[in-house]
Amino acid sequence: MLNRYALFQNRTMRSADLILYNAKVYTLTPKKPQAQAVAIKSGKIVDVGSNTQILKLKASKASTVDLKGRTVVPGFVDCHMHMRSYAKTLEQVELRDVISIRQLQDKLRRAATKNPANAWITARGFDEEKFSEKRLPSRFDLDKAVSDHPILITRVCGHLSVANTKALELANITRTGGLSSDGVVEKDPRTGKPTGILLENAQDLVARCIPKLDEKELLRIFEKACRKAVKKGLTTVHSIINDALDVSILCELYRQNKLKLRVRLIVPVDYLEEVDKMVAFKNDRIRLGGIKIFADGSLGAHTAALRNPYTDDKTTEGILVYPNRELERILFKVNEKGHQIAVHAIGDKAIERVLDAFEKILRISGRKNHRHRIEHASVLNEKLIRQMKKLGIIASVQPHFIVSDFWIIRRLGVRRARWTYALKSLIRNGVVVCGGSDCPIEPIDPLLGIWAATTRKSFPQEKLTIEEAIEMYTKNAAFASSEENVKGTIERGKLADLTILSQDPYTIRANCIRKTKVDMTIVDGEIVYVRRRR
Ligand SMILES: [Zn+2]
Repeated sequence: MLNRYALFQNRTMRSADLILYNAKVYTLTPKKPQAQAVAIKSGKIVDVGSNTQILKLKASKASTVDLKGRTVVPGFVDCHMHMRSYAKTLEQVELRDVISIRQLQDKLRRAATKNPANAWITARGFDEEKFSEKRLPSRFDLDKAVSDHPILITRVCGHLSVANTKALELANITRTGGLSSDGVVEKDPRTGKPTGILLENAQDLVARCIPKLDEKELLRIFEKACRKAVKKGLTTVHSIINDALDVSILCELYRQNKLKLRVRLIVPVDYLEEVDKMVAFKNDRIRLGGIKIFADGSLGAHTAALRNPYTDDKTTEGILVYPNRELERILFKVNEKGHQIAVHAIGDKAIERVLDAFEKILRISGRKNHRHRIEHASVLNEKLIRQMKKLGIIASVQPHFIVSDFWIIRRLGVRRARWTYALKSLIRNGVVVCGGSDCPIEPIDPLLGIWAATTRKSFPQEKLTIEEAIEMYTKNAAFASSEENVKGTIERGKLADLTILSQDPYTIRANCIRKTKVDMTIVDGEIVYVRRRR
């Protein structure tokens, strides 16, 4: 009798309010890798199994969704994106597909006619490598297109911008003025006048003159950004925040019931002292992820720190943001506070310094299960990969760079390029690799990242299987935010964060992955996106 009663109890507990059936469910668990149906109640998965098994759990008011053979995977997670920058790009001129300075000028001219007189025009995403002129635009190129609006255009990597004369004037960047401590205002060697090209922090000299968006505008563009993210199947994003304002905007969105996905905040180390106050709110959607520290720059801008000079510019080995002792001191402090650390390190020298610093501080603190991450981890070698494994450092990678950095061999030479984005070697050596976009630098689309990782043509020995690629954005991503017990796989008791795909990425040709559509996104048991069919 007792047993029967227990069974009955169990049954009521397990009744569902949303049932997805007739699906191909990839649970990503070793026990029961595939199923047909998922039952959801109060934001959690109550059971996974066959259609008959699961439909039995239907409570009277439950809704059922016939997925007609579509594929269900654990909700995608983007482990590295910049919410505010992304939201802002939704208002900016997009230059990603521009293939000449001429075309760039046309786009800026058109944008100028759409904007009130004197209004700032900002644009981003250009890559001079794609230009037929094969050079960076100067302020004179921009002036030729538009001289009565201030203009700031930012390179695809985010580490270099070009301003027109009007913008330079507003920023008071002249022949002598406009110095920046950790950036470069490029000047013409003949005339001594600024060319309009601004590197690293020198970009701020101009950027800070752009009128700030007010809170209402920020709320609007953040909401837009979140909507775009769930449309791409994302159920969580790890967002590198700019400051406390980002957090309050996200909290306000949540309060208004407009935050349709989970956000893990990655907070710049500058706010280390304020971070506890910053995240002193109670909601399950927004949580602190880690503390972000920069170790170097980018390959695109020749500022990633390499052990040997750049192949296409022997005069430079890139830039280390901190001297060793300083890096160790900062990492030590953050680690002592018990936070997870996410260090931006791209060049092999930067990664080496970061790993050596981690090795030292972890030996002193003895901390286990720290989940410290290296963001990008681009230029590796066998020794660095082994060291990552040994120290338990997570590689937080953005596979779409494989496609965007098509100039990698020219920049680094074949030997180093072979070890760039060495995703397979990382996985084979037991390093946990989690996936992201670095949006807005790359598109906010996990399927594009999965496609890039599984179809790479250069150095195919580093190509991933579809299983490995999907795990980067699900299972491993959950591990990267210490949430492997609540999400990342589809199993009983876990959060009902699910992504429903138009076709099965596990069985189609890898090249078709790019064409796969997200048909539905479920966060916390709520259907937050359904693709409209034509
Ligand atoms: Zn980034």
